[in-house]
Amino acid sequence: MSIINFAVIGYGGMGSYHAHNLIPAESTRFHVVGTYDISGERQQISKGKGLHIYESLDEVLKDSNIEAILIATPNDSHKEIAIRALRAGKHVVCEKPVAMNTDELDEILAVAKETGNVFMVHQNRRWDPDFLIIRQLYQNKTIGDIFQIETRVQGANGIPGDWRHLEKHGGGMLLDWGVHLLDQLLWLVDSPVQSVHSDLSYILGDEVDDGFMSYITFENGVRALVEVGTTNYTKLPRWYVKGLEGTAKINDWDLSGEIIAATGRKDVAAPTPIQAGVGLTKTMAPPSEEATEKLAFPEAKADFVPFYQNFYEVVREGAEPIVKNEEVRKVLKLIDDIFESCHKG
Ligand code: NAD
Repeated sequence: MSIINFAVIGYGGMGSYHAHNLIPAESTRFHVVGTYDISGERQQISKGKGLHIYESLDEVLKDSNIEAILIATPNDSHKEIAIRALRAGKHVVCEKPVAMNTDELDEILAVAKETGNVFMVHQNRRWDPDFLIIRQLYQNKTIGDIFQIETRVQGANGIPGDWRHLEKHGGGMLLDWGVHLLDQLLWLVDSPVQSVHSDLSYILGDEVDDGFMSYITFENGVRALVEVGTTNYTKLPRWYVKGLEGTAKINDWDLSGEIIAATGRKDVAAPTPIQAGVGLTKTMAPPSEEATEKLAFPEAKADFVPFYQNFYEVVREGAEPIVKNEEVRKVLKLIDDIFESCHKG
């Protein structure tokens, strides 16, 4: 089948990663023709890598050789670029967060519907190995029915970059890492959200949140704690997940951690009390040896194709998108609700 020619709008950190790593990885399907960036410096870097330089977004959109564009500009510009590109007859891959809020997303989706062009959001962390392991544990009930999920990312470097510090550009960590963690969570737990309690943090004195904690309950009884922190000098595990028959912990993206599962044996000795501070405890003592076993993590394998392969199949063969716009909308609506509840106290 024929190649899809791409132009990248916003050749910064993520735009250049798409241009040189993600899109070319599907080289029999795509070709990155060129870039448009408002920064002359970034344009020169792109030119140095052999890409064609467009002088304006209009010039990209008028180029009939370009069939699809990738939007990797600051968050506040996604809506306008997406709508203009869709109206110009281009298919669009848009970086996360898709837009500043659901009202903006609805405007984009209305134009996608009207024009019939494909609009897909790059929620790439559905392919993260740590998430794929948790997804398998959840689906295969390896540690029984999972009833509690703690999902965190923590750093000590504050909010990165420049525009991410500013509200008008859609800065802050809820719209940055938050959208990834919430997307993973809502895709994992196939049940409507029942309630959410959140706390945005402003420890570093920025006008946008430098992190947040959300406690989310789902109608099926699953509870989740979601945390993004940028002032954490030592970290809690990336995932801590409790099932009725075991507990799983993934420490970091290096996939270190453990699964401890109940053996279910009835003939095990009672736990021996341990010294706890100045007292004794049996409740918090480790279970006796026969009561638990260590399980290996399942292989971190996706049972779905990579993002750009899927995008190609959506455009060329009408395949179902792996990242569906209604899912993206649910995540953004949850983010709207978190902002609203925090701002109204
Ligand atoms: P960045 O600041 O490194 O790059 C943004 C680039 O866009 C800059 O070169 C800037 O000059 C250019 N730009 C700004 N406004 C523009 C406009 N109107 N038209 C053309 N170019 C414009 O930022 P980044 O880290 O690459 O983030 C870009 C987007 O990618 C954001 O939406 C961000 O959330 C997303 N992102 C996603 C991931 C992921 O894992 N999916 C990771 C990082 C960033």
